[in-house]
Amino acid sequence: MTILQYSVHQVNNNSALPNRVDIIFSQLDYYSNSNMIRGDFHKVFNDKKRILIIMPHPDDAEIYCGGTIAHLVKSKKEVRIVKATFGERGCQQEKITLSRLKKIRKREDSASMEVLGIKPSNNIYLDLGDGKVENTIDTIKKIAFQIRLFKPDLVITTNPEDSVIRFDKNINWINHRDHRNTAQSTLDAILPYSRDLLFFPEQLKGSRAISHSVTEFLLTDYYDHPDNVLINVTDFINTRVKAHSCHKSQYSLSDAKESADFFTIRNYYPKGKRYESFRYVVAD
Ligand SMILES: [Zn+2]
Repeated sequence: MTILQYSVHQVNNNSALPNRVDIIFSQLDYYSNSNMIRGDFHKVFNDKKRILIIMPHPDDAEIYCGGTIAHLVKSKKEVRIVKATFGERGCQQEKITLSRLKKIRKREDSASMEVLGIKPSNNIYLDLGDGKVENTIDTIKKIAFQIRLFKPDLVITTNPEDSVIRFDKNINWINHRDHRNTAQSTLDAILPYSRDLLFFPEQLKGSRAISHSVTEFLLTDYYDHPDNVLINVTDFINTRVKAHSCHKSQYSLSDAKESADFFTIRNYYPKGKRYESFRYVVAD
């Protein structure tokens, strides 16, 4: 059930409340009065060359930002995706082994990255173990090294703080522990560990890694935050679906289409337009 449907339902039961048209406009006002950038890819990314996406599992990048990635690649941005794990426990079949599923997921993920236009050298696995991502100094160190190597202008990661994600009225889900921990370690790695020279100084000797600061990031799995931005992915839905459906051990083609519809269509978006939603943070 959506926010708008819920509001209309209330109207039907209380004549003192405003009419449906008022509700529609007040809802649009809410979004236009917030800091939300309506589908403005360019305002967020125009001055960025290098985008680092840090996700817990293969398929998370496609689910949360597959259309945005396709748009970034088409715009000639350098995009690197770091995955904390191979998602090797993501299965409800009893007979498959961890090592077998790990190989399958890696192969499926490689196919998906090819669809999105991500070079193999920009597809990185930390192999921390599916379900075992901890926000420890060791995880932070590995992510800080990736930041120091790639030197991104903007980082995209998951929601570090909410144990329960509120998508909409009556639509919630549990925020996977790997997602919370990957995101928290990423934010910790951004500041101060990748910037300050006395953290992990061995990373800076004789390698391409340098001290690096990131001041802008997009966080996924925020849907009603006042700082949300909507990135227009209308022209990239087919690429998103095609990439997502490469994860055949997890999804069918119709699952990937349903996921794209679920995440990129809401009743207050302009008709025919599709958006991916992020919390946009500038912090320095
Ligand atoms: Zn995940």
